[in-house]
Amino acid sequence: MARYIGPVCKLCRREGGKLFLKGDRCYSDKCSFDRSPFPPGQHGQARVKFSEYGLRLREKQKVRRVYGVLERQFRKYFAEADRSKGVTGENLLSLLERRLDNAVYRLGFASTRNEARQLVLHQHILVNGKRVNVPSFLVKPGDKIQVREKSRQIARINDSIAGSARRGEITWLELEKESYTGTVKSLPVRSELTQDIKEQYVVEYYSR
Ligand code: SF4
Repeated sequence: MARYIGPVCKLCRREGGKLFLKGDRCYSDKCSFDRSPFPPGQHGQARVKFSEYGLRLREKQKVRRVYGVLERQFRKYFAEADRSKGVTGENLLSLLERRLDNAVYRLGFASTRNEARQLVLHQHILVNGKRVNVPSFLVKPGDKIQVREKSRQIARINDSIAGSARRGEITWLELEKESYTGTVKSLPVRSELTQDIKEQYVVEYYSR
C-alpha cells in the first residue's frame, strides 16, 4: 500500500478526534475537525454504532495515522513490542515515539511529523554528527539530534521552533535552541504522551 497523500483533515474526521497533522492550522479556528466533527462523506452525519472489533480497528488506524506509519511496518513494531519485556501497548508507543521523524517533530524542528520526515529524508538532520536519512531510525538515550549547519537558515525550521512551545513540553528530550541540538535524555514514558490514545485496543486488535 502506498503512503497516503490525500487530504489529512479527513483522517481526523474519520477517527473522531484531532490528530494534529497540519501544524499551526490545527491550533487555529480553521481546523476542519472543529468545524465539522463528524466523519467525511455523504452519510458522515448518520449515527453509527461501532462493533467491538470496529472500535479496536479505528484505534489502531488512529495511532498509525498519528505517527504516519504504514500497516506492514506498524505490525513489525507491534511484534517487537510484544516480544519485549513490559506492557505491550506502552512498548509500542515508546517504539513509535523513538522514531527519528517523531523526535525531530517533538524537538520542534518541524511543525508536523510529515514535515519532520521530509527534513530527515532531505538530509537536514544529523544524529551524533552523522547524516541519517531514515525516518524510522530509532533514537536512544544519549543520542544528539542536530539540524545540519547549512540548513539552519531554513525559515520553516525557525518558524517551527518559535511556535513549538504550545505543543507542550516533553521531558525525554532536551533542546538547546542556540545550537539547534536536541539530546535524548531517557526513553519516552507513556504518562507524557498526552494525545488521547487507547493502546490497549491496539493490542487487542492484533491479539484477535
Ligand atoms: Fe486535524 Fe484539524 Fe489539524 Fe486538520 S487542522 S489535521 S482536522 S487537527
